[in-house]
Amino acid sequence: VKKNGEPEVMPPPPIPKAGRRKSVAPPEMMKSKKRQSSAIKPPDNQTKMAKLGEVSRPNQKFYEMIQEFRETLEVRPVLANQMNEPHRISVCVRKRPLNKQELIKKEIDVVTVSGKGELMVHEPKQKVDLTKYLDNQVFHFDYSFDESSTNELVYKFTAKPLVQSVFEGGMATCFAYGQTGSGKTHTMGGDFNGKQQNNARGIYALAAQDVFASLNHSRYSNLDVSVYVSFFEIYNGKVYDLLNKKAKLRVLEDDKQQVQVVGLEESHVTKAEEVIKIIQIGSAYRTSGQTSANAKSSRSHAVLQIILRRNDWVTTLYGKFSLVDLAGNERGTDVSSNDRNTLVETAEINRSLLALKECIRSMGMNSDHIPFRMSTLTKVLRDSFIGEKSRTCMIALVAPGMTSCAYTMNTLRYADRVKELKGDSKARG
Ligand code: ADP
Ligand code: MG
Repeated sequence: VKKNGEPEVMPPPPIPKAGRRKSVAPPEMMKSKKRQSSAIKPPDNQTKMAKLGEVSRPNQKFYEMIQEFRETLEVRPVLANQMNEPHRISVCVRKRPLNKQELIKKEIDVVTVSGKGELMVHEPKQKVDLTKYLDNQVFHFDYSFDESSTNELVYKFTAKPLVQSVFEGGMATCFAYGQTGSGKTHTMGGDFNGKQQNNARGIYALAAQDVFASLNHSRYSNLDVSVYVSFFEIYNGKVYDLLNKKAKLRVLEDDKQQVQVVGLEESHVTKAEEVIKIIQIGSAYRTSGQTSANAKSSRSHAVLQIILRRNDWVTTLYGKFSLVDLAGNERGTDVSSNDRNTLVETAEINRSLLALKECIRSMGMNSDHIPFRMSTLTKVLRDSFIGEKSRTCMIALVAPGMTSCAYTMNTLRYADRVKELKGDSKARG
């Protein structure tokens, strides 16, 4: 891998910023031999086809530039048998594949997972003189998952290490963050086969399976606890119980700063299959009565909690794992709707995502002041941000397409800020 240099054929770029690599559209004469010679040969049917395909692709130039750049990269993917070091706060990124519609539109893929924890965005740009160039920006996270990675692999390096901390009496949280359509629900709730979601294959279900595996493990045989599950959604700052017909619930804080969601249903569960059933029912409530055009589910946070309670007479809280499918982070600069509701929704989402970032940062700095009151989301998760035993993992989801590029950059910058406090000052975009 050329770590800092530009591919040799390129003219020197205008003073690159740290952590960025720019590549410039190579002049025609510098194109690879292969392409030159195929241009000379009389086109047979196959090359004609390929040519036609190329011509119909918008942004063909950028596509070629990205392909050329990728050829200079040596990609080292995450291996399933790699050790995963435990982190108190971990931040990971997952890139989804281009979907059918994107492939039909010949959308170009501008994201490359270039190594363990590394991810690059090849941002297509144009100079004033219309020269096209790529602004290649590198990000570093604890793990980065490419488009071929499965939910199981992602789970193994993100939420799985947190199960143990719940059994040791800690609070754990796992967040899926990203724009609508980036794969949050796919990752947390299970992968989709058409409209049908396989709830047994998402992080919710995989975590539930491991909770029961640990419960039955000899290591915890002296632990006298039972497992409960709650599932709710936060929309516009209000809590709705997905296990109780979306009943609207109140959030109260007592004089000891303990936050309570009054009347939240907690189902006692004895095996993972029961949790999967609950995920199915709750997910159906989450999306019921919605068209994809005005999907409120993408503008709400969904929180699944797996709770361990002691088998004493007041069922004292022992440990808790909160798994959160966050609202889409796309800025509501949706000019088509100047409808007040949408603006209020957007402001609320922005505030809660900001609050979340600040709470995780405070947690990482072991600060006494956790700004949890800023939003309902952080209020209901308050106890997860305090105490030495609290652990958190954020999975940033990104779509690969060029049209999502600005959103992708937003997501990566946010994830970068969450991680920043860890004191590693690696290159940032
Ligand atoms: P979000 O919840 O972030 O709005 P979804 O999880 O609903 O996004 O994903 C949008 C679409 O993309 C779904 O059809 C989903 O199946 C698909 N998708 C997301 N991530 C992946 C992935 N890693 N592999 C294959 N398809 C994916
Ligand atoms: Mg979703």
